[in-house]
Amino acid sequence: MLSVNSARLWQSLMDLARIGATDKGGVRRLTLTDVDRRGRDQFVAWCREAGMSIEVDGIGNIFARRAGTDPALPPVAMGSHLDSQPSGGKFDGAYGVMAGLEIVRTLNDAGVRTRAPIEVAAWTNEEGSRFVPTMMGSGVYAGVYGLDFALGQKDIEGVSVGEALRAIGYAGEAKPHRMGAYFEAHIEQGPVLEQTKTTIGVVMGALGQRWFDVAILGQDSHAGPTPMETRRDAMLAAAKLTVEVNRIATTFPDYARGTVGQLQVKPNSRNVVPGEVRMTVDFRNAKDATLTAMVDELKRCAARIAGECRVSVDLKEVVYFPPSEFAADLVDSVREGSAMRGYSHREIVSGAAHDAVYMARIAPTAMVFVPCEGGISHTEIENARADDIAAGCNVLLHAVVKRAGALESA
Ligand SMILES: [Zn+2]
Repeated sequence: MLSVNSARLWQSLMDLARIGATDKGGVRRLTLTDVDRRGRDQFVAWCREAGMSIEVDGIGNIFARRAGTDPALPPVAMGSHLDSQPSGGKFDGAYGVMAGLEIVRTLNDAGVRTRAPIEVAAWTNEEGSRFVPTMMGSGVYAGVYGLDFALGQKDIEGVSVGEALRAIGYAGEAKPHRMGAYFEAHIEQGPVLEQTKTTIGVVMGALGQRWFDVAILGQDSHAGPTPMETRRDAMLAAAKLTVEVNRIATTFPDYARGTVGQLQVKPNSRNVVPGEVRMTVDFRNAKDATLTAMVDELKRCAARIAGECRVSVDLKEVVYFPPSEFAADLVDSVREGSAMRGYSHREIVSGAAHDAVYMARIAPTAMVFVPCEGGISHTEIENARADDIAAGCNVLLHAVVKRAGALESA
């Protein structure tokens, strides 16, 4: 059974983290800055050393390819992103890219060829902190956004994506190609694996999202003279609706989640019954039908509460992002790779979006999660254990080689 070189993988992650390193041990590698260029250049240099060929497409996605024995087969790809949050960590994104590189190095060392080519992708602007939208590179690749739209997006200084790409030398010309499969290794960015002492998260898919802006209109009035039974209290309605959001998310199946994260109260004075509240609702679920049922239930609750509180409750949907179910056979190979090596593993869903979510729309896709310390990410103190990082990479190796078809060379 082939194994990756754990020390080499860890060292590559640490070497990459020196590019844009922050005082507190994190990384600041904002997309399409000169620091991002240095990270990209390092990745490309390592890939060339490993004998891979490099292509860059119009949105700056990098594809490093190790040839297969059957040039007619589409590549089996792995990847993630090299950009970080303004005060990000060493593992978010970097892990998926370095894991892909480590797998190629391992195959090279062992003299193993594969039938299908193997590709490592570094997607542009996954984080979305300098340019919106997030997951821009994979979004363009998967046809979610047009290239011209993405190139025209500007940062707060008025610099466009197209200008920034040219400035760092990563405005490429490669056209999108077919991928036979796509795998992404990532730290969990949540607490489940660590809390359950599990090494590998077998990711079933990513949660769909439906976001609402809610406007509740009643009548503001004096807190003293206005009797309780005649009030039209928008805040009371908002409180009741918040409790219902929580009830729905805790009673519906399929990894339901519900959050009220913003509340604006008018006139926001301690001795005035509030006449107006604007609030947000964020619903997530692994199954589209259940997500719809949650929304239907929310609408029923809103209508009932409007009557009870003598207010109007208006729900406006502002974001719909469908759930993605990963490819069953690839998910099976992740589970199989974990079992073969004796790693503890459990099924999990991704609550966050990843490049894999867009890739799942155009190619069979799966993800491998490993624990991160305290379940925290998007911060400089983000951390992970070298053993877990290597374990995830070994699982990825199994799944990728199985899909690509291995041939032992003489
Ligand atoms: Zn990430």
